[in-house]
Amino acid sequence: MTSPLWHPFTQHGLGEPIPKVVRAQGALLHLADGRTLIDGISSWWVTTHGHCDPRIAAAIGAQAQTLDQLIFAAYTHDPAEEVAQGLIDLAPRADGRDPLSHVFYSDSGSTAVEVALKMALGYWHNRALDGLSTPRHRILVLEHGYHGDTIGTMSMGERGVYNAAWTPLLFDVTTIAFPHAGQEPKTLAALEAACTAPEKPAAFIVEPLILGAGGMLMYSPAVLREMAAICARHDVLFIADEVMTGWGRTGTLFACEQAGVVPDIMAVAKGITGGSIALAATLATARIFDAHLSTDRARLFYHSSSYTANAIACAAAAANIAIWREEDVLGRIAALSQGLAQRLGVLARHPAFANPRQHGTVVAIDLIASDAGYLSDLAPQLRAFFLDRGILLRPLGNTIYLLPPYCLDSDQLDQIFEALAQAGDFFAG
Ligand code: PMP
Repeated sequence: MTSPLWHPFTQHGLGEPIPKVVRAQGALLHLADGRTLIDGISSWWVTTHGHCDPRIAAAIGAQAQTLDQLIFAAYTHDPAEEVAQGLIDLAPRADGRDPLSHVFYSDSGSTAVEVALKMALGYWHNRALDGLSTPRHRILVLEHGYHGDTIGTMSMGERGVYNAAWTPLLFDVTTIAFPHAGQEPKTLAALEAACTAPEKPAAFIVEPLILGAGGMLMYSPAVLREMAAICARHDVLFIADEVMTGWGRTGTLFACEQAGVVPDIMAVAKGITGGSIALAATLATARIFDAHLSTDRARLFYHSSSYTANAIACAAAAANIAIWREEDVLGRIAALSQGLAQRLGVLARHPAFANPRQHGTVVAIDLIASDAGYLSDLAPQLRAFFLDRGILLRPLGNTIYLLPPYCLDSDQLDQIFEALAQAGDFFAG
């Protein structure tokens, strides 16, 4: 077998069939060998409106001929300003809470979260310079979290064999137990204790409502609300990583809305451009922004990035935001969520499955199997099984999940659930 050139640098796909995709439209991927696949996970949770949405593609084409890339240090352009205003308008809000009012652009979810971390630490650094606080460096994280693959974001995520090579360089965090059903009071008590520990934490970072890469583990808006309230009570910054949950995934534009939570800092990426091109943003309240507003070099926020606010990516995001403003995307999401719920209810009766769960368009179910776990042999076997049936799915160990584009139709939904039931028959026991 010839080894693709990228193999030495990725753990993904080793020893598996590697389909080559030549074209994509809506929920479908067209392969070089003539087959089509239904994209059941929006190509890594990204293509919210489906592939190659014509409005977004047109915006990218037009922008590429007008202004492509501009140094965004002391220069600006319309698409960046339009998207910043759009993000601020659409961000979660609640009475009595400072709104998210400032935007920092980057180009991946990992970087958006890394920037969130740097903003939180910078805030406490500058408070300390003013004599208003001791410096704070400790970060609280939720067990089984995932925030990206840089050294900083890996430090805040679950540790395992996949980051063993770098573990000695990952910084120490305080991990709060995941709020499994019935365990919520324990989680909240642990958070309260961590917030009041002698070493005051700088921030608590969470994936709101769903811990994605950690196994599509779900918890309730009530717990999210309570976690944010505890942080507010103890003046610990609350960072929401909405990289996966944002852009309608959980049934609302942002998951925090369901809990009435306005985070101090929020990271968004993936669906920000409808999934067409890389862009990410970190939103912050005026309190975080103002703490960095200074002529003193030691207080500035240092994070430049060549492609920050790339004009083509911003034009794609502006087109996405226009779709959200002009169309009933939430209505489409509600209908899809209902279709998913109904079929998940049926699948849950299959004896091979356990723990059906859903928030909006994200559904997950666990295959009862002896070979479980994130890096078990089961996941590649399941991937191949679904590929054979014309479906792109990427189980996490024995957890099979769907995160489809919102344009998925009911025939495609039926095909996916038919394949899931077949997987239950085939892999059970
Ligand atoms: N945070 C969360 C919650 C994510 O799901 C991901 C990506 N799966 C990231 C951060 C990192 O995003 P990216 O892959 O764009 O760097």
